[in-house]
Amino acid sequence: AMSDEVDLNECIRSALLIARNHLKDRVEVFQALGELPPVACAPSQINQVLLNLLTNAAQAMDGPGRIQIRSWAENDRVHISVQDSGRGMPPEVVARIFDPFFTTKPVGEGTGLGLSISYKIIRDHGGSIRVASEPGRGTRFLVSLPRHQAAT
Ligand code: ADP
Ligand code: MG
Repeated sequence: AMSDEVDLNECIRSALLIARNHLKDRVEVFQALGELPPVACAPSQINQVLLNLLTNAAQAMDGPGRIQIRSWAENDRVHISVQDSGRGMPPEVVARIFDPFFTTKPVGEGTGLGLSISYKIIRDHGGSIRVASEPGRGTRFLVSLPRHQAAT
């Protein structure tokens, strides 16, 4: 089905499996996955979002770095954070990252579509995607989705 009752931790694990091929050995991945209620979503779309966040994080690092991915539940929402120790972004870049075709990457390396598509996917699922970034220190994305509600 397009939309199933999905364990987002499984999405995280499969995105990490794929990402490992892109992530250079110099990137250390730390994961802390909490127990989650199911979320009504299309797993392939959430995988796409997570893969883009992980790829962006890896591409934000010039040298050795660390990506931390966490999941937890809070009331009726499920949260996933992806935090990197990369170069971070100044506010004028942060202001534009969800715009279609906005990229700071060289031609051929970035289409600038990853985050605008991710934003749409998460919004279509009734969720939100937020970012906090500090130049020279790193970036943290927070994806929040509503837990699945049993039909009444
Ligand atoms: P692309 O990766 O093709 O450039 P995205 O929509 O995925 O397109 O990202 C847009 C821009 O946002 C990137 O070019 C980069 O400047 C910035 N960005 C996204 N994620 C990060 C991150 N984790 N650290 C630093 N910059 C980032
Ligand atoms: Mg991208």
